[in-house]
Amino acid sequence: MSEVVYLDYASSSRVDPRVAEAMLPYFKELYGNPSSPHALGTRMKGALEESRAKVAWLINAEKPSEVIFTSGATESTNMLLRGAAFRSREKGNHIVASKIEHISVLNTLKYLSKSGFEVTYLPVDSTGILDLEALKASVTDKTVLVTVGYANNEVGTIQPVKEIAEIVHSKRALFHSDATPAVGKIPVDAQKDGIDIMTISSWDMYGPYGIGAAYVKKGSRMEPLILGGGQEFGMRSGTENVAGAVGMGKASELAKLEMAGDAERIAAIRDKMVSRILSEVPYSFLNGHPTKRLPNNASIRFNYVEGESMVLTLDMEGIIVSSGSACSSKTLEPSHVLIAMGIPHVEAQGSLLMALGRFSKPDDGDRVADVLPRIVKGLRQMSPIAPPEVR
Ligand code: PMP
Repeated sequence: MSEVVYLDYASSSRVDPRVAEAMLPYFKELYGNPSSPHALGTRMKGALEESRAKVAWLINAEKPSEVIFTSGATESTNMLLRGAAFRSREKGNHIVASKIEHISVLNTLKYLSKSGFEVTYLPVDSTGILDLEALKASVTDKTVLVTVGYANNEVGTIQPVKEIAEIVHSKRALFHSDATPAVGKIPVDAQKDGIDIMTISSWDMYGPYGIGAAYVKKGSRMEPLILGGGQEFGMRSGTENVAGAVGMGKASELAKLEMAGDAERIAAIRDKMVSRILSEVPYSFLNGHPTKRLPNNASIRFNYVEGESMVLTLDMEGIIVSSGSACSSKTLEPSHVLIAMGIPHVEAQGSLLMALGRFSKPDDGDRVADVLPRIVKGLRQMSPIAPPEVR
């Protein structure tokens, strides 16, 4: 059997071998608590701070101390949204979010609304771009926080982040962005983009699991989620995961240096694959924005077929894709992102998310495009809802 074609980078990425290499000494010979004043501790502290500086460099933070290491994107979002909301309570209790936020954002907001906050969910257009007029109308003097993902993990749409930041700041609210799918894939510049607090993942950019980061711009109102020994500038207590931080630092450095080349190469494979699929499979449509999208994302819906059936049939051909966000796939509900974009339920259920990555091979797209017309036709033949002309 030929090698597997892996197009599920939105659910799980491979750790870059250069990252694993950089981490190895921290599992074998290097140890010590970064808070200890002795030589071993100081050496670990040095490695931690060097890694923090690399993450800061990737996102153009003004200072490395604006980067707090956490256990991953979900924890960062919990800390940032809860920490900013509770800290700003005396200003107001209003939060604004887009309807297409990741489930980690949505469930944190659900928790905050049970704790006395009012949350306004804003619509997006049919390509997934936030309605800026609705944003302007909803942000008031009582708004403490606005959260809009930098780019959507399911459909790849990139938001007009700078414009959003200007509107948010006109009412002196904090702007949070979950930039998990964007950092390391497209240039994210915390200062120029006007982001106050930001969620950053490690594994999404070929770093290790079990570590992530939260960007907290100097002066942002914030309180910690995890209390203890006061590590990470008091923002995230617990003995630091130095091996993880070293891995995330290395991944950040590689992303900064290789992002442009990666993006061009990956987008070329993706674009050829998408155009072949759209022209060779009848009743197939691209989800998301045609140009303002992540270079690695292809989200396509196929009428009269079910996403899960396509995932399983492609799996038997050695092609790994997903039907949407792995984080929400325990529910059988159609994606809230596609629904918010106005796609009818039945069509949303026929979507495939094909996310490419650094290790995608030039012929990966063709391998998918070669088999999909046959697979979709076969499934449509068994579908009770497919009209005769598509069978
Ligand atoms: N936010 C977004 C936008 C994501 O795509 C993901 C998953 N890749 C997460 C948050 C959660 O990441 P994790 O499960 O690593 O905490």
